[in-house]
Amino acid sequence: MNKWDKRFLGLALYYSSFSKDPSTKVGCVLVNNKNVPVGLGYNGFSRNSEDLKEVLENRPEKYKRTIHAEENAIYNRTGDIEGSVAYLTHPPCVPCVNRLSQNGIKEVRFIQGIDEAFYERWNLGESVDEIEALQMTYQSYIMNDKQKAEIFMEVIKSWQS
Ligand SMILES: [Zn+2]
Repeated sequence: MNKWDKRFLGLALYYSSFSKDPSTKVGCVLVNNKNVPVGLGYNGFSRNSEDLKEVLENRPEKYKRTIHAEENAIYNRTGDIEGSVAYLTHPPCVPCVNRLSQNGIKEVRFIQGIDEAFYERWNLGESVDEIEALQMTYQSYIMNDKQKAEIFMEVIKSWQS
């Protein structure tokens, strides 16, 4: 993994920690062709929501209200995101692949965790097929939690040297 991918996946991991979702915390960073982040997002309810615990812990109700990290990164954009690369802590869902495509994003780089419970709810093949159907490219990095922490810590520790 090159240093930019480490930096931006590390940033996506950091930003994912802002999510209040009790089961899956997702971070997304949109980076333009000058290696400048132009949009950050994490998954969660709208900013006007009270984030009620009983809603967060009820999957059908939670799913109705959750704005995905990719959508929030698009809403939160601070500049032109056309042609940006989307860095993600998780594989994107099919609707988000379409949202990214519609906003001119043609490349996604994501962490593919090894959490079995997540993949019981998630069809990775379907997302990859959609990425390819929309003529986008992707890079996936298979990582366990320890490896995720290591890339994050490597970035954070660099300020000490
Ligand atoms: Zn999504």
